[in-house]
Amino acid sequence: MTNYGRDLFLYMPPTGDEASFAQCGACRLFVPPAKGEKSGHCVIHGSTLKVDADASCGLFVAWGDDGPSEAVIGANREELAKGDPKAVTPQESGFLAAKVQCHRCKHFEAKTSGCDFFAFLNKQVPSNFKVDTRVEPHACCNAWVAATRKAPKPRNWYGKKES
Ligand code: SF4
Ligand code: SF4
Repeated sequence: MTNYGRDLFLYMPPTGDEASFAQCGACRLFVPPAKGEKSGHCVIHGSTLKVDADASCGLFVAWGDDGPSEAVIGANREELAKGDPKAVTPQESGFLAAKVQCHRCKHFEAKTSGCDFFAFLNKQVPSNFKVDTRVEPHACCNAWVAATRKAPKPRNWYGKKES
């Protein structure tokens, strides 16, 4: 039997500016608002979806050590200006107009900096899961669920909406 780890959920420890990690504004696929625009866009979600810097999705890609590249952003802006069809839909990517990260997730245990979802999997399905339950507050994964009632209800890891 395979013992799955947290990479199955695309767990990502924070890099760069921790406060903005895993949010669109820190993603190399984000195209910031042009002059006169209120919202930005995402090159893989196409030119019709408005995307704010505080949104997120499961396809987040951090910039490298050199930080944001104006050349890359410019090329992505040009692609969008052509009216590029989207490569993914918000449903496919798990797009959320919400601030994410572990410390805003209902599975986060602040006292131990642990993830109770990962602990649940280890306990309930030990034949398949051996997940490191220690997580960093500014990390994130695709199993994120809003900790507050005000935040939008995301899809959970197996694709059903949280009730
Ligand atoms: S929607 Fe996803 S892929 Fe697009 S900019 Fe935001 S985090 Fe990156
Ligand atoms: S606390 Fe939430 S976002 Fe963080 S690893 Fe656990 S399920 Fe993923």
